[in-house]
Amino acid sequence: MLSGTASPKTGGTELKRIVFDEETIARRVRELGQEITTRYSDGELLVLGLLKGSFIFLSDLVRRIDRPLQVDFLVAASYGAETVSSGNVRLLYDPETELAGKHILLVEDIVDTGRTLNRLVSLLKERGPRSLEICALLHKHIAEHLALEPAFIGFDAPKAFLVGYGLDHAQNFRHLPYIASLT
Ligand code: 5GP
Repeated sequence: MLSGTASPKTGGTELKRIVFDEETIARRVRELGQEITTRYSDGELLVLGLLKGSFIFLSDLVRRIDRPLQVDFLVAASYGAETVSSGNVRLLYDPETELAGKHILLVEDIVDTGRTLNRLVSLLKERGPRSLEICALLHKHIAEHLALEPAFIGFDAPKAFLVGYGLDHAQNFRHLPYIASLT
């Protein structure tokens, strides 16, 4: 167990090991910011964070992008059934910002099965953006079919369940400054 992480509120769930520490994350986020700055040399850029998991990553990332941009968020909920066709995603919060004609950079915490992204990609494409790319902090590389491979990836992730730096387990651990695996 890592010190200071177990509490009655976390239901006894404990962290196993730090997978990416604070310094490693900060270094990679700086690099991603540079990559994104270079990629978008012209046009309007809208950085769209998928809540809640991306909130810390997005706030660090946008401060490392050295060009004008706008920030908005979306909150997505699937209809629940595994059998719904891709594109069937319900937005609990729909970005107020106009998407048409802009470069949209969708920021996601972690790509696992890819279902969330596949649904969002088709929905966002319908809004007529100038371009659509994904920036994922973590990628497990287990998705069988991704409608759009992330153009920007923070880290290849182990197949463990990860928490911290925005990622939760039952809403706990989001505040940790590092990324850890659970026991
Ligand atoms: P997908 O649709 O790609 O299967 O799942 C993506 C979502 O599942 C992520 O945005 C995240 O909310 C959740 N998720 C997938 N793997 C993990 C993990 O290792 N840790 C946490 N905390 N959430 C995960």
